[in-house]
Amino acid sequence: MNDSYDCLVIGGGPAGSTTATLVAEAGFSTLLVERDKMPRFHVGESLMPETYWTLQRLGVLEKMKASHFPKKFSVQFVGQSGRESAPFYFHDADPHESSQTWQVLRSEFDQMLFDNAREKGADAFDQARVLDVAFDGNKATGARVQRKGEEPREINARVVVDATGQQSLIANRLGLKDEYPGLRKASIWTYYRGARRDAGRDEGATIIMHTKGRKAWFWYIPLPDDVVSVGVVSNLDYLLKGRGTPEEVFEEELENCPAVKERVTIGERCDDYRVLRDFSYVSQQPAGEGWVLVGDAFGFLDPIYSSGVFLALRSGELAADAIVTGLKSDDLSAQQLGSWADEYASGMNWIRKLVYAYYNDDFSFGEFIRQHPQHRKNLTDLLVGKVFHEDAGRMFDDMEPWMAEANQAEEAMSRDK
Ligand SMILES: Cc1cc2nc3c(=O)[nH]c(=O)nc-3n(C[C@H](O)[C@H](O)[C@H](O)COP(=O)(O)OP(=O)(O)OC[C@H]3O[C@@H](n4cnc5c(N)ncnc54)[C@H](O)[C@@H]3O)c2cc1C
Repeated sequence: MNDSYDCLVIGGGPAGSTTATLVAEAGFSTLLVERDKMPRFHVGESLMPETYWTLQRLGVLEKMKASHFPKKFSVQFVGQSGRESAPFYFHDADPHESSQTWQVLRSEFDQMLFDNAREKGADAFDQARVLDVAFDGNKATGARVQRKGEEPREINARVVVDATGQQSLIANRLGLKDEYPGLRKASIWTYYRGARRDAGRDEGATIIMHTKGRKAWFWYIPLPDDVVSVGVVSNLDYLLKGRGTPEEVFEEELENCPAVKERVTIGERCDDYRVLRDFSYVSQQPAGEGWVLVGDAFGFLDPIYSSGVFLALRSGELAADAIVTGLKSDDLSAQQLGSWADEYASGMNWIRKLVYAYYNDDFSFGEFIRQHPQHRKNLTDLLVGKVFHEDAGRMFDDMEPWMAEANQAEEAMSRDK
């Protein structure tokens, strides 16, 4: 590890590894530090098809194609009564190879991206924690880094990238994090071996299932080695306050969701119960002088549509381009380093609106598409991650009856600014 770099990236998840790879590839000295020992466990196993383009640019598509990760061709929603929507097949909206994606083990996927950053020229260290980011006035100048078993050292950098995920090192320190109203959720999840998998192209599908009464929903994500990731999500208070152990709550919710129960009872649980809060938030600004935020460190949206890794890769890529331009022209201002963020945030907003729609008690995808069949392609596009174009939100005019909460949230967030 040197004392000084053009770019220091904090956090070896998908966002950090993407940024580090592309900045290093452009010829700038880059340090990527991850506090955990790699490979490390992480939730977030289901990819969106639009990850294809960043994976291609990073040069890892062939590795993905050769991997043991199950192929994902669709997502399907099951209502509280057990009624299934027709699967949203990504190929139907766009018959291109990018319409097939994967369900990944994040330990392996993140390790692949981390190694790739090293192969493309970054100095990449795991078990190296950033204790603090150094500022000179408003300008980030580096960080204090401690490798396992060593004394902390000061590393200088022209640009500091915060890719620390939900830790949001810089946004927390500067008090920039705004929570989206009404989305204080939590998850309890575990893994089953030998649980039901559908046949053919549905084998790797993500299934999202409401519990009876719609107080919670389950994800069902097929993984390698006949393992399925199964998690329940609901309001934090409902899920975690005064209801017993995570196991008891999970089992109770399972009883409430025959569609999942029937799938898992033929299998065996093969991991512990895990618990996480998953509040949705965004930082008031994406960048400042000499610093920029990517992935969850910038913003996080509810896990319902599996958008997190896609947004991490995409923001990592966009930020890397802005950093490279800034390093070349010696313009490391907030404007330059955050120049990608307006368009990115408006894409993220379409997904956020869809999140609020899902939590509206009167909304159902199946019913919406039956009433407005012309929007099936638009909806599938959003589920695929095609959110960064002008037409991305055209169906929301017809979704207005279910948008009250989303609109209130938008107003509250802009009032607070
Ligand atoms: C319950 C749940 C389910 C989800 N399901 C999905 C899904 O199915 N599909 C999907 O795409 N997304 C999903 N997500 C979201 C997804 O997990 C994240 O959006 C994604 O991991 C973000 O990537 P990232 O690189 O920004 O952050 P992370 O992957 O969190 O990486 C950040 C890294 O920074 C490191 N770090 C933190 N602080 C420091 C420090 N001080 N010094 C050095 N390193 C540090 C951490 O150890 C970590 O490895 C889910 C999220 C939750 C909560």
